[in-house]
Amino acid sequence: MALGIAFFLCQIQLDYLESYFYDLRVKLRPTPETSGHIQTIVIDTHTQEALRRMPESLDYMKLAEELKKASPKAVIFIVEYDEMESIIGSYEELELLADSLKQLNFYVAIDDRLPTRGLEEEFRLLPPLQDIQVGSAPSTRDTNNFARDGVTRRLILGLHDEPLLHAKLASQFNGISQPSKYQGAFDFKRTEQAYINYRPTGTYRPLSFVTVANGEFDPHVFEDKIVLIGKDTKANINDYVQTPYSRDALAMSKVELHANILDTLILDEAPILTPHWLNVAITAAISILTVFVVLTVRPAHGLYLLIVAMAGYFAFSLLLFITGNLWLSMVHPLLAIFICYYFFIPYRLIIENRKSWEYFQKNKLLTQVEELKSNFLQMMSHDLKTPLARIQGMTEVALRDPNPLSKGQLEAIQNINKSSEELSQFVGSVLNLGRIESKDINKLHLKSKDINALVHDVIQKCDYLAKQKNIELETDLEPMFSLKIDEDLMKQVLTNLVENAIKYSPENTKVQIKTEEIEGKVYIKVSDHGAGIPKSDIENLFTKFYRARQARNSDVKGSGLGLYLARYFVNLHSGDINVESEVNKGSTFTVELPMNLH
Ligand code: ADP
Repeated sequence: MALGIAFFLCQIQLDYLESYFYDLRVKLRPTPETSGHIQTIVIDTHTQEALRRMPESLDYMKLAEELKKASPKAVIFIVEYDEMESIIGSYEELELLADSLKQLNFYVAIDDRLPTRGLEEEFRLLPPLQDIQVGSAPSTRDTNNFARDGVTRRLILGLHDEPLLHAKLASQFNGISQPSKYQGAFDFKRTEQAYINYRPTGTYRPLSFVTVANGEFDPHVFEDKIVLIGKDTKANINDYVQTPYSRDALAMSKVELHANILDTLILDEAPILTPHWLNVAITAAISILTVFVVLTVRPAHGLYLLIVAMAGYFAFSLLLFITGNLWLSMVHPLLAIFICYYFFIPYRLIIENRKSWEYFQKNKLLTQVEELKSNFLQMMSHDLKTPLARIQGMTEVALRDPNPLSKGQLEAIQNINKSSEELSQFVGSVLNLGRIESKDINKLHLKSKDINALVHDVIQKCDYLAKQKNIELETDLEPMFSLKIDEDLMKQVLTNLVENAIKYSPENTKVQIKTEEIEGKVYIKVSDHGAGIPKSDIENLFTKFYRARQARNSDVKGSGLGLYLARYFVNLHSGDINVESEVNKGSTFTVELPMNLH
Protein backbone atom coordinates (compact mmCIF):
# COMPACT_ATOMS: atom_id res chain seq x y z
CA MET A 1 0.00 0.00 0.00
CA ALA A 2 2.86 2.36 0.82
CA LEU A 3 4.35 1.73 -2.62
CA GLY A 4 0.95 2.19 -4.22
CA ILE A 5 0.53 5.55 -2.51
CA ALA A 6 4.03 6.60 -3.61
CA PHE A 7 3.52 5.68 -7.27
CA PHE A 8 0.08 7.24 -7.35
CA LEU A 9 1.40 10.46 -5.79
CA CYS A 10 4.26 10.70 -8.27
CA GLN A 11 1.75 10.70 -11.12
CA ILE A 12 0.26 13.95 -9.86
CA GLN A 13 1.83 17.14 -11.19
CA LEU A 14 2.72 19.32 -8.23
CA ASP A 15 4.95 21.80 -10.02
CA TYR A 16 3.44 24.78 -8.25
CA LEU A 17 4.34 23.47 -4.80
CA GLU A 18 7.61 21.99 -5.97
CA SER A 19 8.66 25.37 -7.34
CA TYR A 20 7.66 26.98 -4.07
CA PHE A 21 10.13 24.75 -2.23
CA TYR A 22 12.70 25.39 -4.95
CA ASP A 23 12.35 29.13 -4.40
CA LEU A 24 12.75 28.60 -0.68
CA ARG A 25 16.08 26.90 -1.30
CA VAL A 26 17.18 29.69 -3.64
CA LYS A 27 16.38 32.22 -0.91
CA LEU A 28 18.11 30.26 1.85
CA ARG A 29 21.40 29.56 0.09
CA PRO A 30 24.33 31.97 0.01
CA THR A 31 24.40 34.24 -3.09
CA PRO A 32 26.48 32.68 -5.90
CA GLU A 33 29.46 34.63 -7.23
CA THR A 34 29.05 36.51 -10.51
CA SER A 35 31.40 35.97 -13.46
CA GLY A 36 32.43 39.62 -13.54
CA HIS A 37 32.00 39.67 -17.34
CA ILE A 38 28.79 41.67 -17.35
CA GLN A 39 27.99 45.35 -16.92
CA THR A 40 24.47 46.73 -17.16
CA ILE A 41 23.25 50.14 -18.30
CA VAL A 42 19.70 51.19 -17.48
CA ILE A 43 17.40 53.78 -18.91
CA ASP A 44 16.16 54.82 -15.49
CA THR A 45 14.20 57.66 -13.95
CA HIS A 46 17.46 59.60 -13.53
CA THR A 47 17.95 59.40 -17.33
CA GLN A 48 14.35 60.41 -17.93
CA GLU A 49 14.68 63.36 -15.58
CA ALA A 50 17.96 64.52 -17.11
CA LEU A 51 16.70 64.26 -20.72
CA ARG A 52 13.08 65.13 -19.88
CA ARG A 53 12.10 62.30 -22.27
CA MET A 54 13.17 58.82 -23.26
CA PRO A 55 16.55 58.60 -25.09
CA GLU A 56 16.44 59.18 -28.83
CA SER A 57 18.81 58.43 -31.72
CA LEU A 58 21.24 61.20 -30.84
CA ASP A 59 21.46 60.01 -27.22
CA TYR A 60 22.15 56.50 -28.45
CA MET A 61 24.83 57.95 -30.71
CA LYS A 62 26.53 59.60 -27.76
CA LEU A 63 26.29 56.36 -25.77
CA ALA A 64 27.73 54.35 -28.66
CA GLU A 65 30.64 56.75 -29.01
CA GLU A 66 31.44 56.54 -25.30
CA LEU A 67 31.18 52.74 -25.33
CA LYS A 68 33.46 52.47 -28.33
CA LYS A 69 36.17 54.16 -26.29
CA ALA A 70 35.65 51.67 -23.43
CA SER A 71 36.10 48.61 -25.75
CA PRO A 72 33.42 46.18 -24.51
CA LYS A 73 33.19 42.62 -25.88
CA ALA A 74 29.59 43.05 -27.01
CA VAL A 75 26.71 45.43 -26.44
CA ILE A 76 23.19 44.03 -26.12
CA PHE A 77 20.13 46.18 -26.30
CA ILE A 78 17.18 44.37 -24.74
CA VAL A 79 13.78 45.04 -26.26
CA GLU A 80 10.48 43.32 -26.87
CA TYR A 81 9.57 42.35 -30.43
CA ASP A 82 7.10 45.20 -30.76
CA GLU A 83 9.68 47.74 -29.59
CA MET A 84 12.30 46.78 -32.17
CA GLU A 85 11.96 50.10 -33.94
CA SER A 86 11.62 52.11 -30.73
CA ILE A 87 14.63 54.37 -31.30
CA ILE A 88 13.24 57.66 -32.44
CA GLY A 89 15.13 59.86 -34.92
CA SER A 90 15.27 61.16 -38.47
CA TYR A 91 16.49 58.88 -41.26
CA GLU A 92 19.85 60.68 -41.37
CA GLU A 93 20.31 60.42 -37.63
CA LEU A 94 19.52 56.73 -37.69
CA GLU A 95 21.98 56.23 -40.57
CA LEU A 96 24.70 57.80 -38.44
CA LEU A 97 23.68 55.67 -35.48
CA ALA A 98 23.86 52.52 -37.62
CA ASP A 99 27.41 53.42 -38.67
CA SER A 100 28.40 53.99 -35.07
CA LEU A 101 26.86 50.76 -33.82
CA LYS A 102 28.52 48.69 -36.58
CA GLN A 103 31.87 49.22 -34.88
CA LEU A 104 30.59 47.93 -31.55
CA ASN A 105 29.53 44.25 -31.88
CA PHE A 106 26.05 45.47 -31.14
CA TYR A 107 22.98 43.25 -30.87
CA VAL A 108 19.33 43.97 -30.51
CA ALA A 109 18.10 41.14 -28.25
CA ILE A 110 14.44 40.23 -28.63
CA ASP A 111 13.24 39.26 -25.18
CA ASP A 112 9.88 37.71 -26.00
CA ARG A 113 10.04 35.83 -29.29
CA LEU A 114 11.69 32.75 -30.74
CA PRO A 115 12.82 32.82 -34.35
CA THR A 116 10.73 30.91 -36.87
CA ARG A 117 12.38 28.92 -39.62
CA GLY A 118 11.93 30.54 -42.99
CA LEU A 119 10.81 33.80 -41.42
CA GLU A 120 14.27 35.08 -40.50
CA GLU A 121 13.29 38.42 -42.10
CA GLU A 122 11.10 39.10 -39.10
CA PHE A 123 14.28 39.49 -37.07
CA ARG A 124 15.58 42.40 -39.09
CA LEU A 125 15.31 46.14 -38.45
CA LEU A 126 14.02 48.51 -41.07
CA PRO A 127 16.50 50.62 -43.11
CA PRO A 128 18.74 52.33 -42.35
CA LEU A 129 19.30 49.96 -39.38
CA GLN A 130 18.84 46.80 -41.45
CA ASP A 131 22.44 45.57 -40.94
CA ILE A 132 22.29 45.63 -37.14
CA GLN A 133 22.43 42.14 -35.68
CA VAL A 134 19.14 41.04 -34.15
CA GLY A 135 19.02 37.92 -31.98
CA SER A 136 16.47 36.06 -29.92
CA ALA A 137 17.23 36.06 -26.20
CA PRO A 138 13.89 35.04 -24.74
CA SER A 139 12.99 35.18 -21.12
CA THR A 140 10.21 32.80 -20.20
CA ARG A 141 7.67 32.99 -17.40
CA ASP A 142 5.89 29.98 -15.91
CA THR A 143 2.44 30.96 -17.16
CA ASN A 144 0.98 27.99 -19.00
CA ASN A 145 3.51 25.33 -18.11
CA PHE A 146 5.64 24.30 -15.12
CA ALA A 147 4.60 26.12 -11.92
CA ARG A 148 2.08 28.46 -13.63
CA ASP A 149 2.79 31.13 -11.04
CA GLY A 150 4.18 33.80 -13.36
CA VAL A 151 7.71 33.48 -11.98
CA THR A 152 10.62 33.39 -14.43
CA ARG A 153 12.83 30.43 -13.50
CA ARG A 154 14.02 29.11 -16.86
CA LEU A 155 16.22 30.29 -19.69
CA ILE A 156 16.10 29.12 -23.31
CA LEU A 157 19.47 27.94 -24.54
CA GLY A 158 18.62 27.00 -28.10
CA LEU A 159 16.11 25.99 -30.66
CA HIS A 160 16.59 22.53 -32.20
CA ASP A 161 20.03 22.52 -30.58
CA GLU A 162 20.97 25.75 -32.40
CA PRO A 163 22.21 28.23 -29.77
CA LEU A 164 20.22 31.44 -29.28
CA LEU A 165 21.86 34.75 -28.42
CA HIS A 166 22.62 34.05 -24.73
CA ALA A 167 24.32 30.74 -25.49
CA LYS A 168 26.22 32.25 -28.43
CA LEU A 169 27.61 35.05 -26.26
CA ALA A 170 28.42 32.69 -23.38
CA SER A 171 30.30 30.34 -25.70
CA GLN A 172 32.82 33.12 -26.27
CA PHE A 173 33.81 32.62 -22.62
CA ASN A 174 33.31 28.90 -22.02
CA GLY A 175 33.62 27.38 -25.52
CA ILE A 176 30.39 25.33 -25.19
CA SER A 177 28.91 25.40 -28.67
CA GLN A 178 25.94 23.04 -28.33
CA PRO A 179 23.04 24.02 -26.07
CA SER A 180 22.45 20.44 -24.95
CA LYS A 181 26.01 20.29 -23.56
CA TYR A 182 25.25 22.80 -20.80
CA GLN A 183 24.88 21.59 -17.24
CA GLY A 184 21.23 21.04 -16.31
CA ALA A 185 20.00 21.39 -19.92
CA PHE A 186 16.70 19.69 -20.72
CA ASP A 187 14.43 19.49 -23.75
CA PHE A 188 11.11 21.22 -23.75
CA LYS A 189 9.05 21.16 -26.91
CA ARG A 190 11.43 22.37 -29.66
CA THR A 191 13.84 24.07 -27.29
CA GLU A 192 16.72 23.29 -24.99
CA GLN A 193 16.25 24.96 -21.65
CA ALA A 194 17.86 25.20 -18.23
CA TYR A 195 17.12 26.82 -14.88
CA ILE A 196 18.55 30.23 -14.07
CA ASN A 197 21.11 30.36 -11.30
CA TYR A 198 19.67 33.48 -9.70
CA ARG A 199 21.33 36.15 -7.66
CA PRO A 200 19.13 38.54 -5.69
CA THR A 201 17.98 41.81 -7.23
CA GLY A 202 20.68 44.48 -6.94
CA THR A 203 23.62 42.10 -7.33
CA TYR A 204 24.47 43.67 -10.70
CA ARG A 205 25.13 47.35 -10.15
CA PRO A 206 23.84 49.23 -13.21
CA LEU A 207 25.09 52.52 -14.62
CA SER A 208 22.57 55.10 -15.67
CA PHE A 209 22.16 55.62 -19.44
CA VAL A 210 22.67 59.34 -19.17
CA THR A 211 25.79 58.99 -17.03
CA VAL A 212 27.43 56.77 -19.64
CA ALA A 213 26.24 58.92 -22.54
CA ASN A 214 27.84 61.90 -20.83
CA GLY A 215 31.09 59.97 -20.42
CA GLU A 216 30.96 60.18 -16.61
CA PHE A 217 32.27 56.69 -15.82
CA ASP A 218 35.42 54.78 -15.08
CA PRO A 219 36.77 53.85 -18.54
CA HIS A 220 37.68 50.32 -17.38
CA VAL A 221 34.23 49.21 -16.30
CA PHE A 222 33.23 48.02 -19.79
CA GLU A 223 36.54 46.56 -20.89
CA ASP A 224 36.01 43.13 -22.47
CA LYS A 225 32.59 42.86 -20.90
CA ILE A 226 29.17 42.14 -22.23
CA VAL A 227 27.15 45.31 -21.81
CA LEU A 228 23.41 44.93 -21.36
CA ILE A 229 21.20 47.94 -21.98
CA GLY A 230 17.55 47.99 -20.96
CA LYS A 231 14.81 49.89 -19.19
CA ASP A 232 14.33 50.28 -15.45
CA THR A 233 11.82 53.12 -15.14
CA LYS A 234 9.30 51.26 -12.99
CA ALA A 235 6.67 52.41 -15.51
CA ASN A 236 5.86 49.19 -17.32
CA ILE A 237 5.56 45.79 -15.73
CA ASN A 238 6.65 44.19 -19.00
CA ASP A 239 10.14 45.45 -18.23
CA TYR A 240 10.20 43.37 -15.06
CA VAL A 241 9.94 39.75 -13.95
CA GLN A 242 8.95 37.89 -10.81
CA THR A 243 11.81 35.80 -9.40
CA PRO A 244 12.25 33.01 -6.85
CA TYR A 245 13.24 35.76 -4.43
CA SER A 246 10.09 37.82 -4.86
CA ARG A 247 6.67 37.58 -6.48
CA ASP A 248 6.42 41.35 -6.68
CA ALA A 249 5.44 42.47 -10.19
CA LEU A 250 8.53 44.71 -10.31
CA ALA A 251 10.80 42.22 -8.53
CA MET A 252 13.68 42.37 -11.01
CA SER A 253 14.34 44.40 -14.14
CA LYS A 254 14.73 42.43 -17.34
CA VAL A 255 18.26 43.84 -17.73
CA GLU A 256 19.22 42.18 -14.47
CA LEU A 257 17.38 39.01 -15.44
CA HIS A 258 19.44 38.79 -18.64
CA ALA A 259 22.58 39.41 -16.63
CA ASN A 260 21.59 36.43 -14.45
CA ILE A 261 20.89 34.28 -17.52
CA LEU A 262 24.20 35.15 -19.13
CA ASP A 263 26.15 34.51 -15.95
CA THR A 264 24.42 31.13 -15.48
CA LEU A 265 25.63 30.16 -18.94
CA ILE A 266 29.08 31.76 -18.83
CA LEU A 267 29.83 29.90 -15.59
CA ASP A 268 27.86 26.84 -16.79
CA GLU A 269 26.22 26.42 -13.42
CA ALA A 270 22.51 25.97 -14.08
CA PRO A 271 20.76 24.06 -11.28
CA ILE A 272 20.24 20.38 -12.16
CA LEU A 273 16.77 18.98 -11.65
CA THR A 274 17.14 15.36 -10.52
CA PRO A 275 15.45 12.76 -12.75
CA HIS A 276 11.87 11.64 -12.21
CA TRP A 277 12.81 8.04 -11.39
CA LEU A 278 14.90 9.27 -8.44
CA ASN A 279 11.90 11.21 -7.18
CA VAL A 280 9.75 8.07 -7.41
CA ALA A 281 12.40 5.97 -5.63
CA ILE A 282 12.81 8.49 -2.77
CA THR A 283 9.04 8.87 -2.39
CA ALA A 284 8.62 5.09 -2.28
CA ALA A 285 11.39 4.67 0.32
CA ILE A 286 9.98 7.47 2.48
CA SER A 287 6.44 6.02 2.24
CA ILE A 288 7.63 2.61 3.41
CA LEU A 289 9.59 4.19 6.25
CA THR A 290 6.54 6.23 7.32
CA VAL A 291 4.24 3.23 7.33
CA PHE A 292 6.82 1.23 9.25
CA VAL A 293 7.14 3.99 11.85
CA VAL A 294 3.37 4.45 12.13
CA LEU A 295 2.72 0.76 12.63
CA THR A 296 5.59 -0.11 14.96
CA VAL A 297 6.69 2.90 16.99
CA ARG A 298 4.72 4.46 19.87
CA PRO A 299 2.49 7.23 18.40
CA ALA A 300 4.18 10.14 20.17
CA HIS A 301 7.65 8.87 19.22
CA GLY A 302 6.41 8.19 15.71
CA LEU A 303 5.19 11.74 15.25
CA TYR A 304 8.45 13.09 16.60
CA LEU A 305 10.43 10.81 14.28
CA LEU A 306 8.42 11.85 11.23
CA ILE A 307 8.84 15.54 11.99
CA VAL A 308 12.58 14.97 12.36
CA ALA A 309 12.59 13.00 9.09
CA MET A 310 10.79 15.82 7.28
CA ALA A 311 13.13 18.48 8.66
CA GLY A 312 16.10 16.21 7.89
CA TYR A 313 14.99 15.73 4.31
CA PHE A 314 14.55 19.45 3.84
CA ALA A 315 18.00 20.13 5.31
CA PHE A 316 19.52 17.41 3.14
CA SER A 317 18.03 18.78 -0.07
CA LEU A 318 19.08 22.31 0.88
CA LEU A 319 22.62 21.03 1.41
CA LEU A 320 22.59 19.29 -1.99
CA PHE A 321 21.37 22.51 -3.59
CA ILE A 322 24.07 24.59 -1.94
CA THR A 323 26.94 22.21 -2.58
CA GLY A 324 26.04 20.55 -5.88
CA ASN A 325 23.38 22.87 -7.38
CA LEU A 326 21.12 19.79 -7.33
CA TRP A 327 17.38 20.30 -7.19
CA LEU A 328 15.96 17.30 -5.38
CA SER A 329 12.18 16.98 -5.54
CA MET A 330 10.70 17.74 -2.18
CA VAL A 331 6.93 17.89 -2.45
CA HIS A 332 6.22 14.27 -3.36
CA PRO A 333 8.29 12.79 -0.52
CA LEU A 334 6.91 15.24 2.06
CA LEU A 335 3.36 14.67 0.88
CA ALA A 336 3.96 10.92 1.02
CA ILE A 337 4.84 11.27 4.71
CA PHE A 338 1.60 13.16 5.36
CA ILE A 339 -0.64 10.86 3.40
CA CYS A 340 0.89 7.64 4.71
CA TYR A 341 0.67 9.01 8.24
CA TYR A 342 -2.99 10.01 8.01
CA PHE A 343 -3.88 6.89 6.12
CA PHE A 344 -2.26 4.41 8.46
CA ILE A 345 -2.86 6.05 11.82
CA PRO A 346 -6.60 5.12 11.80
CA TYR A 347 -5.62 1.64 10.69
CA ARG A 348 -3.33 1.34 13.65
CA LEU A 349 -5.99 2.70 15.96
CA ILE A 350 -8.44 0.07 14.72
CA ILE A 351 -5.91 -2.69 15.37
CA GLU A 352 -5.06 -1.40 18.84
CA ASN A 353 -8.70 -0.93 19.68
CA ARG A 354 -9.51 -4.47 18.67
CA LYS A 355 -6.59 -5.77 20.70
CA SER A 356 -7.62 -3.94 23.82
CA TRP A 357 -11.22 -5.06 23.34
CA GLU A 358 -10.07 -8.67 23.08
CA TYR A 359 -7.88 -8.18 26.12
CA PHE A 360 -10.78 -6.70 28.03
CA GLN A 361 -13.06 -9.62 27.10
CA LYS A 362 -10.42 -12.14 28.09
CA ASN A 363 -9.89 -10.40 31.37
CA LYS A 364 -13.60 -10.35 32.05
CA LEU A 365 -13.81 -14.04 31.33
CA LEU A 366 -10.83 -14.77 33.57
CA THR A 367 -12.36 -12.86 36.46
CA GLN A 368 -15.60 -14.73 36.00
CA VAL A 369 -13.76 -18.06 35.96
CA GLU A 370 -11.80 -17.02 39.01
CA GLU A 371 -15.01 -16.12 40.83
CA LEU A 372 -16.66 -19.37 39.83
CA LYS A 373 -13.62 -21.32 41.01
CA SER A 374 -13.56 -19.60 44.39
CA ASN A 375 -17.31 -19.98 44.83
CA PHE A 376 -17.15 -23.62 43.96
CA LEU A 377 -14.27 -24.26 46.34
CA GLN A 378 -16.00 -22.36 49.11
CA MET A 379 -19.17 -24.29 48.63
CA MET A 380 -17.42 -27.61 48.48
CA SER A 381 -15.20 -26.91 51.48
CA HIS A 382 -18.18 -25.85 53.46
CA ASP A 383 -20.02 -29.07 52.65
CA LEU A 384 -16.92 -31.14 53.35
CA LYS A 385 -16.37 -29.67 56.77
CA THR A 386 -19.09 -31.59 58.63
CA PRO A 387 -18.47 -35.06 57.13
CA LEU A 388 -14.75 -34.54 57.73
CA ALA A 389 -15.29 -33.71 61.37
CA ARG A 390 -17.45 -36.77 61.62
CA ILE A 391 -14.72 -38.98 60.08
CA GLN A 392 -12.13 -37.53 62.45
CA GLY A 393 -14.46 -38.04 65.40
CA MET A 394 -15.16 -41.62 64.40
CA THR A 395 -11.46 -42.46 64.02
CA GLU A 396 -10.84 -41.05 67.50
CA VAL A 397 -13.66 -43.23 68.79
CA ALA A 398 -12.23 -46.27 67.01
CA LEU A 399 -8.75 -45.60 68.40
CA ARG A 400 -10.07 -45.24 71.92
CA ASP A 401 -12.08 -48.48 71.69
CA PRO A 402 -11.14 -50.75 74.65
CA ASN A 403 -11.19 -53.79 72.36
CA PRO A 404 -7.68 -54.20 71.03
CA LEU A 405 -7.38 -53.64 67.28
CA SER A 406 -5.21 -55.73 65.02
CA LYS A 407 -1.98 -54.10 63.83
CA GLY A 408 -3.35 -53.70 60.29
CA GLN A 409 -6.58 -52.14 61.57
CA LEU A 410 -4.65 -49.71 63.79
CA GLU A 411 -2.42 -48.60 60.89
CA ALA A 412 -5.44 -48.12 58.61
CA ILE A 413 -7.29 -46.00 61.16
CA GLN A 414 -4.15 -43.91 61.86
CA ASN A 415 -3.81 -43.31 58.11
CA ILE A 416 -7.45 -42.29 57.86
CA ASN A 417 -6.85 -39.91 60.73
CA LYS A 418 -3.75 -38.34 59.14
CA SER A 419 -5.38 -37.94 55.74
CA SER A 420 -8.50 -36.41 57.15
CA GLU A 421 -6.29 -34.05 59.18
CA GLU A 422 -4.59 -32.89 55.92
CA LEU A 423 -7.92 -32.56 54.20
CA SER A 424 -9.34 -30.55 57.04
CA GLN A 425 -6.29 -28.25 56.92
CA PHE A 426 -6.95 -27.67 53.21
CA VAL A 427 -10.61 -27.06 53.80
CA GLY A 428 -9.66 -24.73 56.64
CA SER A 429 -7.38 -22.60 54.47
CA VAL A 430 -9.91 -22.37 51.64
CA LEU A 431 -12.57 -21.23 54.09
CA ASN A 432 -10.08 -18.84 55.63
CA LEU A 433 -9.35 -17.32 52.22
CA GLY A 434 -13.03 -16.91 51.54
CA ARG A 435 -13.43 -15.09 54.83
CA ILE A 436 -10.50 -12.80 54.12
CA GLU A 437 -11.69 -12.02 50.59
CA SER A 438 -15.29 -11.41 51.56
CA LYS A 439 -14.27 -9.17 54.45
CA ASP A 440 -11.69 -7.59 52.20
CA ILE A 441 -9.45 -6.87 55.16
CA ASN A 442 -7.51 -3.79 54.66
CA LYS A 443 -7.77 -2.46 58.17
CA LEU A 444 -4.78 -3.51 60.17
CA HIS A 445 -4.84 -3.87 63.93
CA LEU A 446 -1.47 -2.27 64.47
CA LYS A 447 0.41 -2.78 67.68
CA SER A 448 4.03 -2.19 68.60
CA LYS A 449 5.74 -5.52 68.55
CA ASP A 450 9.32 -6.70 68.66
CA ILE A 451 9.82 -8.61 65.43
CA ASN A 452 12.41 -10.87 67.08
CA ALA A 453 9.87 -11.89 69.74
CA LEU A 454 7.42 -12.70 66.98
CA VAL A 455 10.08 -14.87 65.32
CA HIS A 456 10.56 -16.75 68.63
CA ASP A 457 6.81 -17.39 68.88
CA VAL A 458 6.80 -18.75 65.33
CA ILE A 459 9.79 -20.99 66.01
CA GLN A 460 8.11 -22.39 69.06
CA LYS A 461 5.01 -23.10 67.04
CA CYS A 462 6.96 -24.87 64.29
CA ASP A 463 9.32 -26.69 66.61
CA TYR A 464 7.28 -29.88 66.65
CA LEU A 465 7.19 -30.01 62.84
CA ALA A 466 10.95 -29.41 62.64
CA LYS A 467 11.76 -32.09 65.20
CA GLN A 468 9.81 -34.66 63.17
CA LYS A 469 12.31 -34.17 60.34
CA ASN A 470 15.26 -33.52 62.59
CA ILE A 471 15.61 -30.04 61.17
CA GLU A 472 17.45 -27.45 63.18
CA LEU A 473 15.90 -23.97 63.34
CA GLU A 474 18.78 -21.55 63.52
CA THR A 475 18.34 -17.84 64.26
CA ASP A 476 20.44 -14.77 63.65
CA LEU A 477 18.43 -11.89 65.05
CA GLU A 478 19.62 -8.31 65.10
CA PRO A 479 18.31 -6.40 68.11
CA MET A 480 15.98 -3.63 66.95
CA PHE A 481 13.21 -1.31 67.99
CA SER A 482 9.61 -2.47 68.04
CA LEU A 483 7.64 -2.26 64.82
CA LYS A 484 4.04 -1.31 64.35
CA ILE A 485 2.46 -4.41 62.84
CA ASP A 486 -0.68 -6.47 62.87
CA GLU A 487 0.64 -9.28 65.02
CA ASP A 488 -1.82 -11.96 63.88
CA LEU A 489 -1.26 -11.38 60.21
CA MET A 490 2.53 -11.16 60.43
CA LYS A 491 2.57 -14.30 62.54
CA GLN A 492 0.63 -16.09 59.80
CA VAL A 493 3.15 -14.83 57.24
CA LEU A 494 6.22 -15.96 59.16
CA THR A 495 4.66 -19.26 60.19
CA ASN A 496 3.89 -20.02 56.58
CA LEU A 497 7.47 -19.25 55.51
CA VAL A 498 9.03 -21.35 58.27
CA GLU A 499 6.57 -24.22 57.76
CA ASN A 500 7.28 -24.18 54.01
CA ALA A 501 11.03 -24.20 54.65
CA ILE A 502 10.59 -27.28 56.86
CA LYS A 503 8.07 -28.93 54.54
CA TYR A 504 10.18 -28.58 51.40
CA SER A 505 13.54 -29.50 52.98
CA PRO A 506 14.98 -32.98 53.41
CA GLU A 507 15.56 -34.41 56.90
CA ASN A 508 18.64 -33.46 58.94
CA THR A 509 19.08 -30.00 57.40
CA LYS A 510 19.00 -26.51 58.76
CA VAL A 511 16.53 -23.67 58.38
CA GLN A 512 17.89 -20.23 59.15
CA ILE A 513 15.85 -17.23 60.24
CA LYS A 514 17.59 -13.91 60.11
CA THR A 515 16.37 -10.41 60.94
CA GLU A 516 18.21 -7.17 60.20
CA GLU A 517 17.59 -3.50 59.75
CA ILE A 518 19.03 -1.60 56.80
CA GLU A 519 18.29 2.01 55.93
CA GLY A 520 14.92 2.31 57.64
CA LYS A 521 13.70 -1.11 56.57
CA VAL A 522 13.41 -4.39 58.42
CA TYR A 523 14.31 -7.60 56.61
CA ILE A 524 13.22 -11.04 57.78
CA LYS A 525 14.88 -13.84 55.85
CA VAL A 526 13.93 -17.51 56.00
CA SER A 527 16.49 -19.73 54.25
CA ASP A 528 16.50 -23.47 53.75
CA HIS A 529 18.65 -26.08 52.07
CA GLY A 530 15.79 -27.81 50.36
CA ALA A 531 14.83 -28.67 46.81
CA GLY A 532 14.69 -25.06 45.65
CA ILE A 533 12.26 -23.63 43.12
CA PRO A 534 12.77 -23.61 39.34
CA LYS A 535 12.79 -20.18 37.70
CA SER A 536 9.70 -20.99 35.63
CA ASP A 537 7.68 -21.42 38.86
CA ILE A 538 8.95 -18.39 40.71
CA GLU A 539 6.83 -15.77 38.92
CA ASN A 540 3.59 -17.60 39.79
CA LEU A 541 4.57 -18.63 43.27
CA PHE A 542 2.58 -15.90 44.98
CA THR A 543 -0.63 -16.47 43.03
CA LYS A 544 -3.66 -18.19 44.46
CA PHE A 545 -3.58 -22.01 44.58
CA TYR A 546 -0.27 -22.16 42.78
CA ARG A 547 2.04 -25.01 43.66
CA ALA A 548 5.34 -25.72 41.95
CA ARG A 549 5.43 -28.87 39.84
CA GLN A 550 7.88 -30.52 42.30
CA ALA A 551 5.49 -29.93 45.19
CA ARG A 552 2.50 -31.19 43.23
CA ASN A 553 4.34 -34.41 42.42
CA SER A 554 5.64 -34.96 45.97
CA ASP A 555 3.95 -36.30 49.09
CA VAL A 556 4.08 -32.87 50.68
CA LYS A 557 0.55 -31.64 50.97
CA GLY A 558 -0.50 -28.03 50.60
CA SER A 559 -3.15 -25.71 49.23
CA GLY A 560 -1.03 -23.19 47.34
CA LEU A 561 -2.62 -20.40 49.35
CA GLY A 562 0.05 -19.69 51.95
CA LEU A 563 2.34 -17.50 49.88
CA TYR A 564 -0.60 -15.73 48.22
CA LEU A 565 -1.87 -14.69 51.65
CA ALA A 566 1.66 -13.92 52.84
CA ARG A 567 2.17 -11.40 50.03
CA TYR A 568 -1.33 -10.00 50.55
CA PHE A 569 -0.66 -9.39 54.25
CA VAL A 570 2.84 -8.01 53.73
CA ASN A 571 1.54 -5.63 51.06
CA LEU A 572 -1.06 -4.40 53.56
CA HIS A 573 1.92 -3.43 55.72
CA SER A 574 3.37 -1.49 52.74
CA GLY A 575 6.06 -4.11 52.55
CA ASP A 576 7.16 -6.64 50.02
CA ILE A 577 8.04 -10.29 49.88
CA ASN A 578 10.54 -11.89 47.50
CA VAL A 579 12.25 -15.15 46.89
CA GLU A 580 15.67 -16.18 45.67
CA SER A 581 16.16 -19.80 44.96
CA GLU A 582 18.49 -22.26 43.33
CA VAL A 583 17.32 -25.73 42.42
CA ASN A 584 18.79 -28.44 44.70
CA LYS A 585 20.52 -25.81 46.85
CA GLY A 586 17.71 -24.10 48.68
CA SER A 587 15.56 -21.00 48.85
CA THR A 588 15.51 -17.75 50.73
CA PHE A 589 12.26 -15.88 51.28
CA THR A 590 12.70 -12.25 52.30
CA VAL A 591 10.03 -10.12 53.93
CA GLU A 592 10.74 -6.42 53.76
CA LEU A 593 8.84 -4.09 56.12
CA PRO A 594 9.10 -0.34 56.55
CA MET A 595 10.23 0.81 59.99
CA ASN A 596 7.58 3.50 60.16
CA LEU A 597 4.21 2.42 58.94
CA HIS A 598 1.69 5.21 58.93
P1 ADP B 1 1.69 -24.76 49.87
O1 ADP B 1 0.50 -24.94 50.73
O2 ADP B 1 1.65 -25.57 48.62
O3 ADP B 1 2.97 -24.83 50.58
P2 ADP B 1 2.38 -21.98 49.48
O4 ADP B 1 1.61 -20.88 48.87
O5 ADP B 1 2.85 -21.80 50.87
O6 ADP B 1 1.49 -23.28 49.33
O7 ADP B 1 3.57 -22.28 48.55
C1 ADP B 1 3.36 -22.35 47.17
C2 ADP B 1 4.38 -23.23 46.50
O8 ADP B 1 5.67 -22.67 46.61
C3 ADP B 1 4.55 -24.54 47.15
O9 ADP B 1 3.58 -25.45 46.69
C4 ADP B 1 5.93 -24.95 46.75
O10 ADP B 1 5.90 -25.52 45.45
C5 ADP B 1 6.66 -23.67 46.69
N1 ADP B 1 7.46 -23.37 47.90
C6 ADP B 1 7.11 -22.55 48.91
N2 ADP B 1 8.12 -22.48 49.82
C7 ADP B 1 9.10 -23.28 49.38
C8 ADP B 1 10.42 -23.65 49.87
N3 ADP B 1 10.89 -23.16 51.02
N4 ADP B 1 11.17 -24.48 49.09
C9 ADP B 1 10.69 -24.96 47.94
N5 ADP B 1 9.47 -24.68 47.41
C10 ADP B 1 8.69 -23.85 48.14
